[in-house]
Amino acid sequence: MRRPVVAANWKMNKTVPEALDLTRDLLAQIQAYTAVERVICPAFVALTTVAPLAAAAGVGLGAQNMHWEKSGAYTGEVSPLMLAGLCQYVIVGHSERRQYFGETDETVNKKARAALLNGLTPIICVGEVLAENEAGRTAEVVIRQTRAAYAGLSAEEALKTIVAYEPVWAIGTGKAATPAGANAVIGLHIRGALSDLYSSTVADALRVQYGGSVTAANAADLMAQPDIDGALVGGASLKPAEFGAIVRAASARA
Ligand code: PEP
Repeated sequence: MRRPVVAANWKMNKTVPEALDLTRDLLAQIQAYTAVERVICPAFVALTTVAPLAAAAGVGLGAQNMHWEKSGAYTGEVSPLMLAGLCQYVIVGHSERRQYFGETDETVNKKARAALLNGLTPIICVGEVLAENEAGRTAEVVIRQTRAAYAGLSAEEALKTIVAYEPVWAIGTGKAATPAGANAVIGLHIRGALSDLYSSTVADALRVQYGGSVTAANAADLMAQPDIDGALVGGASLKPAEFGAIVRAASARA
């Protein structure tokens, strides 16, 4: 039985005082659903402020990105060593980082490995852009991204990761994938790639979230799919009642 995991990706939103307020409001909505692994990913600058509240509520904390080196001449970057002890998760390979900040399959792999080496759980994002989807290339893209992200990771390490299937055309657009469509990509192609890399046991044990315009309205249908183990939520994670409803929908799986 895979424990559902729902993560809030606040992206580049909220000042530190606003992050504190939002954390309090979100925690009030999600604290009760202990069967669900709940994670809040604020901006780097808010991590220290938000950490004690999340910890007291039994809710995980994550960063939205990081560099793979422990330290060095990388102006403006944040290292896994800096995050270790401060938070427990890190999103790697988000499509916005691939699209705007030159993230590649290779850097996603380096970050996933560095996260694991430093005791952080990577939430590894994969997903096709609209043109790839329309060209019927979804399988090819997610399989390539999944294989690349896991290169060099042992089965034991892979089991400590989470995948987020985020079709790029669904992110922030209000057009979520259909539950059956997302389930098929995850079950056939992402778990298929993990099964080829490791084994069907590993592929079946690893948790895969869906992300892309998840809302209170569509969460229950998405979470009812057998291969969708939770959600990576952007816009709706800034709305406490809505995020609460998504976590509640995930708790029905548990
Ligand atoms: C995301 O940022 O990972 C995301 C899925 O955003 P949204 O829920 O707003 O589509």
